[in-house]
Amino acid sequence: MNIKELDKKYVASTYGRFDIEIVKGKGSLVYDENGKEYIDLTSGIGVNIFGVCDDKICEAIENQAKTLTHISNLFYTKPCVELAQMLCEKTGMSKVFFSNSGAEANECAIKIARKYAQSKKGEEYFNIITLENSFHGRTLTTLAATGQESFHTLYTPLTDGFVSTKANDLDAFIKLAESTKCAGIMLETVQGEGGVNVLDFDFVKGVEKYAKENDIILIIDEVQTGNGRTGKLYSYMNYGITPDVVSTAKGLAGGLPLGATLMSQKVKDVFNFGDHGSTFGGNPICCASALSVLSRIDDNLLQDVNKKSEYIFSELENAEGVESISGKGLMLGIKAKQDAKRTIKRLQEKGVLCLSAKDKVRLLPPLNIEFSLLQKAVEIIKETLKEEL
Ligand SMILES: *Cc1c(COP(=O)(O)O)cnc(C)c1O
Repeated sequence: MNIKELDKKYVASTYGRFDIEIVKGKGSLVYDENGKEYIDLTSGIGVNIFGVCDDKICEAIENQAKTLTHISNLFYTKPCVELAQMLCEKTGMSKVFFSNSGAEANECAIKIARKYAQSKKGEEYFNIITLENSFHGRTLTTLAATGQESFHTLYTPLTDGFVSTKANDLDAFIKLAESTKCAGIMLETVQGEGGVNVLDFDFVKGVEKYAKENDIILIIDEVQTGNGRTGKLYSYMNYGITPDVVSTAKGLAGGLPLGATLMSQKVKDVFNFGDHGSTFGGNPICCASALSVLSRIDDNLLQDVNKKSEYIFSELENAEGVESISGKGLMLGIKAKQDAKRTIKRLQEKGVLCLSAKDKVRLLPPLNIEFSLLQKAVEIIKETLKEEL
């Protein structure tokens, strides 16, 4: 049996995989089982922010793998501490908890909000407000946090204490918050899986103001938007707000599994010994990789992200077959006249890999994609979107 047949036989059928086996890659180019080359505008769903097998990341991983692979959080280890320090210095946050994924980073954020509110206001203050069309992960708690009904039906009962409200409707949010005993509010400033929806500036500012005035923990989910993706180190920085908790994962370690929950001064000591933990979280190899990634997300790189973003907007905004384009930085959604799934399939045939998000074609290219490759991919996208159906 070939790989595809073996996969169908032995791997849980939770993924509707594309009919492509990727065998290797370098930077923004990946190759399938027949040697066909693709320009990768998926970054492994926003993970490979410096592309596949980046030299500096590989070197950091290799060096750490030869020094110390894993030892557990019972001991001090240098990459973990250095990464926490770098995250705090670059964001102004005060402490970090490390885990292995976005869902876990959000679970940690939710625990912080609950513990803070319950010890300060009373045990009935456990509710978290999230937004409709959000996505916060696949655990039973983060599914409950995800404001999309379709995610709520399979595994009931989900964790109690989550309510969602319409994005960009500040009055509705305040009305809900007034009638809910709230521990926290959690949101993505650009909703990824929900369709690449950029939240309005005034809404985010208004939510921050309300949260501060009412001592409600403001959690920003930067799992997808974080680590340079939207043209700032973290997307909340586009709004000039100061969150209480920031969760991130995906691009953080540039290809290895690592989640981080950043805590502000206000909540940095909410956790005491034994309150939370993770066996793999803060693993030396993942942290060494993240140190390499984070040290390279500087003003130059972010400027370049914004330049590439402007280029894509200007090329596609008024292109034939395009209804609208949304997003920020290199996190973009194209609403086309054609069906998104069909467009993605056609693009694969022509050697360009893209994602979908609801009814949009979603682009999450590596942040350092060569401009010439980006140009080539954009030309192919334009040509495909104007094809006759
Ligand atoms: C992907 C994603 C998650 C879940 O991350 P996992 O690593 O798959 O657990 C959570 N929040 C957002 C915004 C995401 O995009």
